[in-house]
Amino acid sequence: MDNLKISLKAQPKTISSDSTNAWKECLKLIKQNVSNITYNTWFLPIKPYDLDKNTLRILVPNNFFIEWIEEHYNTLINRTIGQILGPEAKLVYIINEDEKEDPGLFDNPIVETKKISVKPVENTFETNISPRYTFDNFIKGESNQLARAAAIAISDNPGETSFNPLFIYGGVGLGKTHLIQAIGNNILNKFPSKKIIYLSADIFTTQFVEAIQSNNMGEFSSFYNDMDVLIIDDIQFLTGREKTQDLFFHIFNNLHQSRKQIILSSDRPPKDLKGMNDRLISRFQWGLTADVQAPDFETRIAILKNKGDSFGISLSNEILDYIAYNITSNIRELEGCLIKLLANSSLTGKEIDFDLARKTVKEISTRKETNISIDNITKIVCQTFKVDENKVREKNRKKEVVLARQTAMYLSKKLTKSSLKTIGLHFGGRDHSTVIHAYNNIEKLTSEDLSLNETVSGIRNKLELGI
Ligand code: ADP
Ligand code: MG
Repeated sequence: MDNLKISLKAQPKTISSDSTNAWKECLKLIKQNVSNITYNTWFLPIKPYDLDKNTLRILVPNNFFIEWIEEHYNTLINRTIGQILGPEAKLVYIINEDEKEDPGLFDNPIVETKKISVKPVENTFETNISPRYTFDNFIKGESNQLARAAAIAISDNPGETSFNPLFIYGGVGLGKTHLIQAIGNNILNKFPSKKIIYLSADIFTTQFVEAIQSNNMGEFSSFYNDMDVLIIDDIQFLTGREKTQDLFFHIFNNLHQSRKQIILSSDRPPKDLKGMNDRLISRFQWGLTADVQAPDFETRIAILKNKGDSFGISLSNEILDYIAYNITSNIRELEGCLIKLLANSSLTGKEIDFDLARKTVKEISTRKETNISIDNITKIVCQTFKVDENKVREKNRKKEVVLARQTAMYLSKKLTKSSLKTIGLHFGGRDHSTVIHAYNNIEKLTSEDLSLNETVSGIRNKLELGI
């Protein structure tokens, strides 16, 4: 596994204030950490624009690039920039709107450009709020009406409405994370002095465990007690974790009493959170509980149009209808379909026409049916980690085999509906607590080790999108 690791501890290098050199250095590091295809598709097309002190501005072909990179390679790119330009480094993306007409633009960069993403720097801690999630790009529909309206109301008046906490629940890929981060972005804009943080409940749990181990409980609690707005995603991860729940209960009470805003999301309504302390469940219902549902046909079309625009592609009505008709269950899949269409078209150099759309939708549906099984997950994981599949199913305790096994268990839990018991059976008859342990361990490792994190999301892409 050594080849997956990168050293991030090297001292930042000082180099001449030349964006070309700086970007070249970044590319070298990036190249060591991603596959060739990834490198060629997503990083090579980026051109440096200029370097002003420690702000490197880079030209990207379209918004789609920014979204893709932020989603998949954010940690890698941030750390790389930090390593090359020092801890104060900042990266600004500029959309190179004339790229198509003038591929040689890089030599002559003075053209109309649009600055679209600058990282907020107001807070001294990381807010974890991604600028890509806004209300503007959240499509309104019957399926999300109440949740969206409440989210907007809160972001105009954090802590002052009766929607405290705001509890948003619903199935996977229906926009919960988007909505609660949009609240965050709006508050950051309107009330820049407010302390606001977003994190998922599993990261919260991991931090909690670390705080106990390093005897930093006081610091940990006071950090969260000091927030003006606390946004916790996927609160269902706290089920069964009594100690974390106890601490969260105290933080909740403190914040609520001081009229600080609390925003939570969950994959199910409060009353269905088995393994969650009753006093927490009752508090979750103090404010407003709102669900997000699967979008109807019109909303799906609107979402596709909007995403297409932001990726810089326009699709015919025929194609839009076809996709919206066939991909119905969640918005992440709609988006995945567009990404795959774009990837297919950019890899093959073919225009996006109805045939390509039909092929892509078909690939996605068959992939979903056939590819996301425990066996297939195991196969791709083993290929990626270069580990023998049989070893993963035996009681082999070699380090790399354990990591592959745990990753396969983790993805099986994340991507299939199989029970913990079934998953355990696929890996040499291990019991459900081993699977939970594996899940938690990979969740923790991927939050700490960026190269593993990227490897795991690469495996997901292979399974879910075939890219
Ligand atoms: P969840 O947290 O419920 O699993 P996400 O918030 O991660 O879902 O949404 C999945 C993807 O779909 C995200 O990229 C998000 O931006 C997009 N999305 C979800 N709902 C909408 C919407 N109403 N309009 C536009 N994009 C949406
Ligand atoms: Mg989410």
